[in-house]
Amino acid sequence: MNNTTGPGTLYLCATPIGNLSDITERVIETLGSVDIIAAEDTRNSIKLLNHFEIKVPLTSYHEYNKYDKANELIEKMQNGKSVALITDAGTPAISDPGEVLVDMCHEAGIRVTSLPGPCALITALTMSGLSTRRFIFEGFLPSDKRERRRLLEELKDETRTVIIYEAPHHLKSTLSELYDHIGDRKIALCRELTKKFEETIRMCLSEAEEYYSEREPKGEYVVVIEGKPQSLIDEEKANDWKNTDINEHMAIYESRGMDRKEAMKMVASDRGVSKRDIYRQLLDDAAQQ
Ligand code: SAM
Repeated sequence: MNNTTGPGTLYLCATPIGNLSDITERVIETLGSVDIIAAEDTRNSIKLLNHFEIKVPLTSYHEYNKYDKANELIEKMQNGKSVALITDAGTPAISDPGEVLVDMCHEAGIRVTSLPGPCALITALTMSGLSTRRFIFEGFLPSDKRERRRLLEELKDETRTVIIYEAPHHLKSTLSELYDHIGDRKIALCRELTKKFEETIRMCLSEAEEYYSEREPKGEYVVVIEGKPQSLIDEEKANDWKNTDINEHMAIYESRGMDRKEAMKMVASDRGVSKRDIYRQLLDDAAQQ
């Protein structure tokens, strides 16, 4: 694929996350025809390449050489060589150093294209049975304690489905931390996706501790968490307002220039009650004064 007329291309090649048959024809063709394959762990990727009888020079691209190696690869692409990026499993640039190379290629004017294929987060989301309409992906939760706490706090009121990656030896503690911060929610633990012992375990966070007191987490996991129901958020907000004196509540809107009728409408909506209830309560309050 050496391009003598201009710069080469970066091909992001998705590889299987457990089942070799999930590789696409286009990925096999591309891996066999590029000049260089950059892999996160060359010892791991050599097995895949041997299986498909692909004999292309392999180089390592990982967390600890991601900037220097990106510069090296970009120079090669500027000289017409084409590069395929593969990671240990799944779609490059998802929770791995690939995003740095992609960014630097764009900045250097190198063409980037992605050959779609397996990706653990999407596979898990579709199997979870939780809402797929709006979701967020957090990857691995930060290991830095402060950052981690801040993120968990953010997740407390997240209404979208949340997807996180977790290693088996951290799963139990992560599940109990999630319970402590965000309260009880439905979760789907999707493990060993596309492999022989693939499993989706659906339960509530409150049940997870007991479940894992009897067994050890094994294999690779994606945790899919139900978003906070909007009705619960509304209820919590209404309860907060109910602790505010009704006259003070009215004053907030009146000070913003609303007339009494408009303010009553807003107060009723905040407190999750009817306008008539507000009217009556204001009359009662006035009568008692
Ligand atoms: N780039 C990959 C992708 O597209 O999904 C993710 C790489 S990330 C370094 C590895 C994490 O992905 C694992 O710790 C696990 O959370 C998740 N993962 C990868 N393969 C999986 C599988 N077969 N089953 C469940 N989770 C998997």
